[in-house]
Amino acid sequence: MIVILKKNPDREQLENLSNWLKSQGLSIHQSEGENSLVLGLVGDTADLDMELIRALDIVKDVKRVQEPYKNANRYFHPEDTVVSVGDTRIGGGYFQMIAGPCSVESPEQICEIARRVKAAGATLLRGGAFKPRTSPYAFQGLKAQGLELLLEAKKETGLPIVTEIMDLSQLDLFADVDVIQVGARNMQNFELLRQLGRTKQPILLKRGLANTLQELLMSAEYIMAGGNENIILCERGIRTFETATRNTLDLSAIPMLHKMTHLPVIVDPSHATGIAKLVKPMALAAAVCGADGLIIEVHNDPMHALCDGSQSLTPEQFDALADEVRAVLPFRCKSEF
Ligand code: PEP
Ligand code: MN
Repeated sequence: MIVILKKNPDREQLENLSNWLKSQGLSIHQSEGENSLVLGLVGDTADLDMELIRALDIVKDVKRVQEPYKNANRYFHPEDTVVSVGDTRIGGGYFQMIAGPCSVESPEQICEIARRVKAAGATLLRGGAFKPRTSPYAFQGLKAQGLELLLEAKKETGLPIVTEIMDLSQLDLFADVDVIQVGARNMQNFELLRQLGRTKQPILLKRGLANTLQELLMSAEYIMAGGNENIILCERGIRTFETATRNTLDLSAIPMLHKMTHLPVIVDPSHATGIAKLVKPMALAAAVCGADGLIIEVHNDPMHALCDGSQSLTPEQFDALADEVRAVLPFRCKSEF
């Protein structure tokens, strides 16, 4: 961090500031320019309140030289992180497709979809048991029973399962879940993130509806600070002024995140668009842009799905998508940063 001081700063105020910075465990490099004095702060400035310093009379500006996320930062960890889930790996060149219904609805539904997406090439099964719904009157998921049904589908197909946790109180129920999803609405549930940092289970962390990439990485940092480095980031569309699609898929987030962090980045074209017909083109674009995987909603009977039928692919459509995605993988962009 650097602190740029106004011209001819009051010496007493400067001394007070310097003493306070030193008391925070930092050392100071002073450099005198023609028009300003610059203090270069050396040490861990992550907890330093920039605004407090900026508000001082003698201070013209404060700038961070390094990003506030350390564990997630590619600068400190140049190699791609590869997250292992059972026998599958995501990141660092390993590309995976996660597929399944928005919500687990019945034993027949989840097992049938699991078989079909596995046959099409998916390597992980998704399915919501606890559902974050905009309306309290909408189907809220089968909850604990939904988790049991997912485990049954796993037993039958061998596919590891990915499912969303909505609240800390559910953590014990998630002991056998292979990948714990933190949904967009919970991206900044910091207490939940902190507790997930104490587990060793891989976490699928979705970008919030209106969150910046830096905020996404700060949320990953909460989990990593607790010791859990098994994080998969997910771009799932953000809120914009556009209403023709459910959200706006931020494709540039893929190469940008690859520059900022070593963590794997996957894309959810289902929630990003909300429209089944848009899922394939966006999935292909994401794969070519360098995504490490996709998470896609598939339902055996979208017309009667209890949640998100309009964006769900049929198993046949997913099969076609998977073929096309595999065909473009050789043309995937490597990050050029
Ligand atoms: C989901 O994946 O089922 C979901 C609710 O996604 P998001 O949190 O991205 O809205
Ligand atoms: Mn959904």
